[in-house]
Amino acid sequence: MAERTLKTPNIEILWKHQTKNLFGDGVVEGATLVKNSGEEGEEEVKIKIDGFFLAIGHTPNSDIFKDYLETDEVGYIKTIPGTSKTKVQGVFACGDVQDSHYRQAVTAAGSGCMAAIDAERYLSEKNS
Ligand SMILES: Cc1cc2nc3c(=O)[nH]c(=O)nc-3n(C[C@H](O)[C@H](O)[C@H](O)COP(=O)(O)OP(=O)(O)OC[C@H]3O[C@@H](n4cnc5c(N)ncnc54)[C@H](O)[C@@H]3O)c2cc1C
Repeated sequence: MAERTLKTPNIEILWKHQTKNLFGDGVVEGATLVKNSGEEGEEEVKIKIDGFFLAIGHTPNSDIFKDYLETDEVGYIKTIPGTSKTKVQGVFACGDVQDSHYRQAVTAAGSGCMAAIDAERYLSEKNS
């Protein structure tokens, strides 16, 4: 994504700028940025915009499971392909935390359904 952004001619990248706040009357009309924050030459800059999108990144929030479940180098929880089963019996993973490829609401919902069925079957087999 970074490379595509750099190659897109109608995107201007404001290096070393941090967003301080947005302003506008009922709608977003501009943003106040801080250039060279904490460095020599720090200054406040106002730019006119009519939309604001925040990129939050794709790092899976799986740190608390790392000691128990297998994760890949980025942190996605590994499941047995075609299932929601992890390497720990009775523990299932679904959604974005185990999907490095699609990361969409509809695929997360589908894999959530798979995990619910896998969990239900695991419990019924265990209790039969
Ligand atoms: C800006 C943006 C736009 C998107 N647009 C689209 C789109 O147009 N179409 C589309 O299909 N998908 C879109 N997606 C992706 C979609 O939102 C995700 O794929 C989907 O929400 C993943 O669902 P999930 O249940 O796996 O994870 P999440 O929706 O992230 O849910 C995880 C939940 O777990 C909670 N949680 C995390 N850690 C803990 C913890 N330790 N204890 C308890 N709770 C915890 C979180 O608070 C959160 O509520 C978009 C995502 C973003 C960020």
